[in-house]
Amino acid sequence: MSNREMISVDEARALVLDQSRPLAQVETPLAAALDGILAVDARSDVDSPPHDKSVVDGYALRAADLSDGRGELAILEEVTAGQMPTHSVTVNACTRIMTGAPIPAGADAVVMIERTELLADDRVRIDDPRCVAGQNIMPQASSLRQGEVVVHRGTRLRPIDIGLLAETGHAHVRVFDRPRVAMLATGNELVAIDQQPGPGKIRNSNSHLLASLLAQAQARPAPLGIARDDRSALREAIERGLDCDALLLSGGVSAGVLDLVPAVLAELGVQAVFHKVRVKPGKPLWFGVHERAAHRCLVFGLPGNPLSGLVNFELFVRPALRTMQGETDVTPAYERARLGQEFRQRGTRQTYYPATLRRQAMSSTITPVEWRGSADLRGFAAANALAMFPAGERRFDEGEEIDVLPLQDVRG
Ligand code: AMP
Ligand code: MG
Repeated sequence: MSNREMISVDEARALVLDQSRPLAQVETPLAAALDGILAVDARSDVDSPPHDKSVVDGYALRAADLSDGRGELAILEEVTAGQMPTHSVTVNACTRIMTGAPIPAGADAVVMIERTELLADDRVRIDDPRCVAGQNIMPQASSLRQGEVVVHRGTRLRPIDIGLLAETGHAHVRVFDRPRVAMLATGNELVAIDQQPGPGKIRNSNSHLLASLLAQAQARPAPLGIARDDRSALREAIERGLDCDALLLSGGVSAGVLDLVPAVLAELGVQAVFHKVRVKPGKPLWFGVHERAAHRCLVFGLPGNPLSGLVNFELFVRPALRTMQGETDVTPAYERARLGQEFRQRGTRQTYYPATLRRQAMSSTITPVEWRGSADLRGFAAANALAMFPAGERRFDEGEEIDVLPLQDVRG
């Protein structure tokens, strides 16, 4: 297949998303809902605050009783948070009030304790020249009103959302299920990470890289270990993986003599959707779907080279996982940045090159890192973004603006 016949990144992603479906909704305790996608609008069962409340420790009074913020007032009672006032505030009187406590009827301002002097148990001098009606009072329902939607369907729940859901009575919430994703590393050269590689062998880094990407994407990784480049070993392991919502295979999808994965997938009834994408790195990507009764498993045959797999994950797997979790806007979010140094683009594939992105107020800078290609994890580790270069021979000059795909560790 020539490069021109292969499908583009956008076409490939459209085909992947076309096969991706939101998973079932599950009721989950709020404590376990962080980072889940809310499946239904969440409304409040309370006003917040539930009453006009004081936001300081001080005295609730009538601003009109002071002149230039000064006056001496009788103390009627003391109200702390959780109690209700028993007196209305009348002319030249006040109530000692603590943060969070309900404002007594009649009062229209609170003077903080630091601006007062206690004269006797039941008398206080006020000295707050800037005192105005309404000060230090948070009106009932000024934060939110009972019945209002406080967190919308489709929101990925952050700690602040969890706090808001707790305030509004949601001990359980309905979120989209997290995809279970099986991972199988294939290759005769692979040994487990706790082994010393013998002659010709390397450690299976991919399973660990992919498991971390999955965990970051809120999926549930189901590792299947390593399979040898042998039809029956592959068959047996792949079959177990098809019970999951997705299966990530690493290796065995290129053009080598032991690249057996596509044939075994076909034998197992996995419908091929595409093989090979006009992207660098990551060209050998294989994608298909397995359906059994109502169950659907998306199968990604990722190339064995670790960074080819990572680029494919960002471009295709992550958007599929986000769709499964109920998100709707899942296309990767490119940004614009200026090249920190010139770059020579060759070939007919859209290229993703590891680079350091520095975000600045006026314009960000993107500088390609020193990199030895798709097996060079060490070189890639200096990057926090992927610089994207469209297909075609061309020199990109320093200062030229290009598209950039930030990886998840970029801070603004
Ligand atoms: P393949 O796609 O199977 O032809 O593998 C391409 C390259 O990636 C080869 O150099 C493999 O040794 C390497 N590779 C394959 N699987 C892994 C893995 N699980 N971890 C690290 N490198 C791998
Ligand atoms: Mg291989």
